[in-house]
Amino acid sequence: MSRRWLAASVMLVLTGALYAQKQKKIAPSRWNLFSPEQDIQLGREAAAEVERKVAVLDNKELTGFVSRIGKKLGEQPEAGNYPYTFKVVHDNSINAFALPGGPSFVHTGLIQAAGNEAQIAGVLAHEISHVALRHGTAQVTKANAIQIAAGIGGLMAGGSMLGQLAQLGAGLGANSLLLKFSRDAESDADLLGARMMARAGYEPIEMARFFEKLEVEEKARGGQMSQFFSDHPNPGNRVKAVSEEVKMLPARGYGKGDSASLQRAQSVIRSLPVPKKTNANFRHQPPAGGSATGAGIDAARPAAALKQHQSRSVSFSYPENWQVFQSGQSNELTIAATEGLVEGQGGRTEIAFGALAGLAPGRGGLERDTEQFLQQIAPANRMQRSGEAKRFQVSGSAALLNLYFSASPYRGRREVDAIVTVEHPKGLFYMILVSPENEYPKAQPVFDRMIQSIQIAR
Ligand SMILES: [Zn+2]
Repeated sequence: MSRRWLAASVMLVLTGALYAQKQKKIAPSRWNLFSPEQDIQLGREAAAEVERKVAVLDNKELTGFVSRIGKKLGEQPEAGNYPYTFKVVHDNSINAFALPGGPSFVHTGLIQAAGNEAQIAGVLAHEISHVALRHGTAQVTKANAIQIAAGIGGLMAGGSMLGQLAQLGAGLGANSLLLKFSRDAESDADLLGARMMARAGYEPIEMARFFEKLEVEEKARGGQMSQFFSDHPNPGNRVKAVSEEVKMLPARGYGKGDSASLQRAQSVIRSLPVPKKTNANFRHQPPAGGSATGAGIDAARPAAALKQHQSRSVSFSYPENWQVFQSGQSNELTIAATEGLVEGQGGRTEIAFGALAGLAPGRGGLERDTEQFLQQIAPANRMQRSGEAKRFQVSGSAALLNLYFSASPYRGRREVDAIVTVEHPKGLFYMILVSPENEYPKAQPVFDRMIQSIQIAR
């Protein structure tokens, strides 16, 4: 072999290596027991469920605005051949989501938060990538593989897939198709979305910029996570990874979209009446079942028998006639009978008889974190402190109990708010137990048992 040949083959290896390091090959996972046609059918059924629960706007200008952007992206080869549809949900929270097979929803809050059209395109391109990469049904496959493998051959065409899957024991609703995605799925959706944006003529870096901006705002709000980031966790270095990807895309004049039509859409949204349910995140919205007069309070009282709630980081017991609902904005849990949830001011669902549990930021020790937490919530909820904090232990963790009084959503009544805070490796775990004042003596023994059952995972 001559020297010249040797050099050439070295060159070949080098460029091969460079290429491999360059554009990552992104494809749907092979481990998916559903067919792409089944993705489409499942997504249609789930979309019908979603539309019963959220406020889809029937506004030509807004739907047209979002559909125009979505269509441009959905036509690109990266989007696969799915029948994408785009609808606007009247909800101030910053969120968007897409179901398998293409039905996509954008909250008005997200349109308001965007600085240019390319940023909305960025979120849509990210969502469309999840659809094209079939992340929803791949996750359902992973979580329910045995039940689905056993029954999928017998699924009848024409029947409801959601219903048939539920019968197989694969508890499936719109919710389970929108699980929190893994970091790998997130970075794939970012990269594929950037390529899709570029091909549609949008400046791809705007996607990363928008995510970054939303994260900064989230930190400013005390780390309260928006639903979008709890479903789409930052895979780490989002901006850097997209910037790297952008360098590999053909150099073209990418645009930020049509600023006049974004401004028009934003002014249409401003002119809409305030959304009826400000917490209307469909999968977490606890239905208001009680009445502000206190009718139905019998069903709202905590039963003496308890059942257990278990999550990765905490477990506790709660009355068996109550349910656990996840609140939209902050990963907070509402625990109550529907009769204990009352539609209060501005259509918000308020807890009249029940509990609220969650994780607050903290690092300064139990006393200081608790004070900070109480100072944040007490004035906003017009709560009056009653007595001194009580220090105790729950399952080996230091805890504090503070009692407050405030106005009950049951009109004309006062309520007791028993606030328990417990040290947690990731901050401060809190549980707020709410009872009308006149009911508190009877509820207190059950509340005490709930508190004693709290266990923080380490
Ligand atoms: Zn995502």
